Amino acid sequence: MTLSERSLEGRTAVVTGGSSGIGWEIAWRLARQGADLVIGDLDVSTARERVGRLTSAGARATALECDVTSEEDVTALAQGALEWSGRLDVFVNNAGITRDAVMRKMTLEDFRQVIDVHVIGSWLGTRAAVAAMRTAGNGGSIVNMSSISGKVGNPGQTNYSAAKAGIVGLTKAAAKEAARHGIRVNAVQPGLIRTPMTEGMDQDALNSGLAQVPLGRIGEPEEVAGVVLFLAGDLSSYMTGTVMEVTGGRHM
Ligand code: NAP
Repeated sequence: MTLSERSLEGRTAVVTGGSSGIGWEIAWRLARQGADLVIGDLDVSTARERVGRLTSAGARATALECDVTSEEDVTALAQGALEWSGRLDVFVNNAGITRDAVMRKMTLEDFRQVIDVHVIGSWLGTRAAVAAMRTAGNGGSIVNMSSISGKVGNPGQTNYSAAKAGIVGLTKAAAKEAARHGIRVNAVQPGLIRTPMTEGMDQDALNSGLAQVPLGRIGEPEEVAGVVLFLAGDLSSYMTGTVMEVTGGRHM
């Protein structure tokens, strides 16, 4: 061991929705710690551009087109990572969308799409990651992106709050199933974070949310990525089935 040890050296990580916002910061943070990176995203051209940035910074990285609602795509993502590097150590189910509206105006399609991307997507990712990690035989860490909205419920987000709460149940059940294979499954619940997802928010809603944050400011994507890095690596080796809030203290 040296003082400059990179904690994920020799390990392979997959990040879904890794082209944008929080996912990109996670990819960057894990790569800085030595992980080989597979970015899975709908938008493969941006994912390829991100891979270019990682490889020019000295990392090993690749991009795969993946719609997390497609069983075929998600299986191909986990198996592709395994074939690409011979192992799979970290899988971050991060891809997400919002389709906000009060219930009176929300369509069934808005509700279904959000459940599909978050709950079905995270379930497909968790299942495919466990299978690939078991094949590789080195254990692993799966991190699922929930939201504080799944703990407290946000008006205008019946779909998103249901999905993000669903991810908590999925995480805990999967953690119990996968533990005997040395695979840990944890979740993160960010609060208000500055990304393309929140850029489109109504200013009044943003200000009233920020007024409830004890730390008094919006969070940055790298502040979520730091917690994902902790859950991905050995510093959290005795943690599974947990839900970590990254909210500046909001809704503690
Ligand atoms: P973002 O900037 O919009 O990034 C989301 C990424 O997911 C994009 O690259 C998007 O691709 C991708 N994606 C969407 N649907 C997909 C699908 N079906 N298959 C594969 N990729 C898909 O959002 P973000 O704010 O970074 O959010 C990342 C995660 O954090 C989400 O799960 C979100 O719910 C969660 N979160 C965010 C906040 C916040 O305040 N920002 C708070 C709590 C939780 P395209 O760009 O091509 O659509």
